[in-house]
Amino acid sequence: MQLIKVEDKLAGSLEGLKIIETAIKNGEVKTLGLATGSTPETLYAEFIKSDVDTSGITTVNLDEYVGLAADDPNSYHYYMNDLLFSKKQFKESFLPDGLAEDAEAECARYEDILKAHPVDIQILGIGTNGHIGFNEPGTAFDSLTHKVVLTESTREANKIYFEKEEDVPTHAYSMGIKSIMNAKEIILFAFGKSKAEAIKATVNGPVDVACPASALQNHPNVTIIVDNEAASLL
Ligand code: PGA
Repeated sequence: MQLIKVEDKLAGSLEGLKIIETAIKNGEVKTLGLATGSTPETLYAEFIKSDVDTSGITTVNLDEYVGLAADDPNSYHYYMNDLLFSKKQFKESFLPDGLAEDAEAECARYEDILKAHPVDIQILGIGTNGHIGFNEPGTAFDSLTHKVVLTESTREANKIYFEKEEDVPTHAYSMGIKSIMNAKEIILFAFGKSKAEAIKATVNGPVDVACPASALQNHPNVTIIVDNEAASLL
């Protein structure tokens, strides 16, 4: 694991963007793995200002809420269209379908997409409980794309985006930990004090399902970009 410590979110986002841009310019990226949440917002804002050509690049996202349509403002489809896809051209973009009727078939469909488009660089945020994607503590390290029950802490962290607490979905489709680990390279971003415990467990803790992100210790090419607050317990 390579650790890059930066002053703040903007500096961290620019560091990450530099890695991504260089890889794209070197022709090393056919498929980019993307994430949602507040963490990558600045990265995407800087990405759309970049002149790097992404029109030949396929994107795959980590997860989507079950029950939300693509045009629902709280869906991750909407987030991605709003912050990135409407402003920068990609070849094609995939996310799980929150309205899929058959969960098992949807997970299999998504794994087929990942097989056809192996991820060259995967961007990750991290939950306060150490989750990556929506792989909550306890998720098996050999998990593939699956339907997950969101923990209370995750629903709590995400409720700021919803009008009413009961509107926060209870389930999501998420790439599994194994699906994430299949990426050739991974860049995990963490900003702010609320992420300090999770970063400590990820970097210094045992490799254990109690902290899903600790699985990354076993990946050969991971960069963790943290601000001073997220790094404060290291
Ligand atoms: P955040 O979420 O970027 O909104 O902090 C990250 C995550 O839960 O993976």
